[in-house]
Amino acid sequence: MKLVSQPRLTIVVPCYNEEPVLQASAQVLNGILQKLVTTNQVRSDSKILFVDDGSQDTTWDLITQLGHQDAVFTGLKFSRNYGQESALIAGMEVANHYSDLIITIDADLQDDPHIIPDMVAQSQQGIDVVYGVRNDRASDSWFKRTSAEGFYWFMKKLGVELVPNHSDFRLLTSRVVTALMTCKETNPFIRGIIPQLGFPSARLYYKRQPRQAGESKYPLHKMIQFALNGILSFSIAPIRMVLYFGLLVCGGALAMLIWILIQHAHGDVVTGWSSIMLSVWFLGGFQLIAISIIGEYVGRTFTEVKHRPRFIIQTDTYSKTFKSTEPTKFRLTHQTVTK
Ligand code: UDP
Ligand code: MG
Repeated sequence: MKLVSQPRLTIVVPCYNEEPVLQASAQVLNGILQKLVTTNQVRSDSKILFVDDGSQDTTWDLITQLGHQDAVFTGLKFSRNYGQESALIAGMEVANHYSDLIITIDADLQDDPHIIPDMVAQSQQGIDVVYGVRNDRASDSWFKRTSAEGFYWFMKKLGVELVPNHSDFRLLTSRVVTALMTCKETNPFIRGIIPQLGFPSARLYYKRQPRQAGESKYPLHKMIQFALNGILSFSIAPIRMVLYFGLLVCGGALAMLIWILIQHAHGDVVTGWSSIMLSVWFLGGFQLIAISIIGEYVGRTFTEVKHRPRFIIQTDTYSKTFKSTEPTKFRLTHQTVTK
């Protein structure tokens, strides 16, 4: 999608208890944004939109203070903690009403914001999706690095296309965000959905920094939840694997049966007892695994059919900054592009 005049950019930043880093991050992001404004790459009414994902600290107070200091800073506040994916979806959905370009980035700026101008430049070349990709994971712990590698490997085996070493630092044009919003699932796995949407894309590489302050909001249980969501929302391969495993076990049971019959014909029945016990335990275990996996899918169907809201926004200081002005967007060369 080629933009004929300056696009309006919104930088969406999910924040969960980010009090220690928010001020510094806001200044860095604003510095980069204002440079883009002065070089006429984006419109002067471009914004930074912080999405407070139900923080318990003073994150929301800081966001509102920033908004009083400079109208470039805006915010959404969730009624409680819904998770990073929901914060991203909320920010993108609200920003998309007024923006031509949306960039999402973590509040701790571990992902190098200095590649934002290059992302915008790529979008001017007609690229709709610009992925920020870390070129090394040296700043991550051994466990995080290895588990991430394992996750990408497994997802690839399941046939899910992911951009390795890309998290949620990316630029999307408005039409990609519009397409993304048509995916109405309650637990969207954004990293998996975006490559599936298509559109011209590019990758920009950067070195990931350690967190400057505060701590990771992804303890082990949240990481496992995230990985499971990715696997279960994109593939029924695990259930296939169980089917193949079941067939294998049935083949094994058949061979076992023949062997037991031969033993029986020899009158040596006591020997067969251990084999039968082995099969009983083996099959019992297999059935438990199978039932638990089926249960996972049934559980997901259950949550999806309820159609609960993905989030409830308590306060929105972003949209009201536009109320007096006419929304101006979609200065496209291709008028056929639909919203
Ligand atoms: N985050 C969020 N809700 C959550 C957890 C995290 O909005 O429930 C935000 C967090 O504030 C940060 C981003 O998601 O902006 C990534 O979190 P973090 O930096 O802790 O993840 P890590 O870099 O350790 O993977
Ligand atoms: Mg981080």
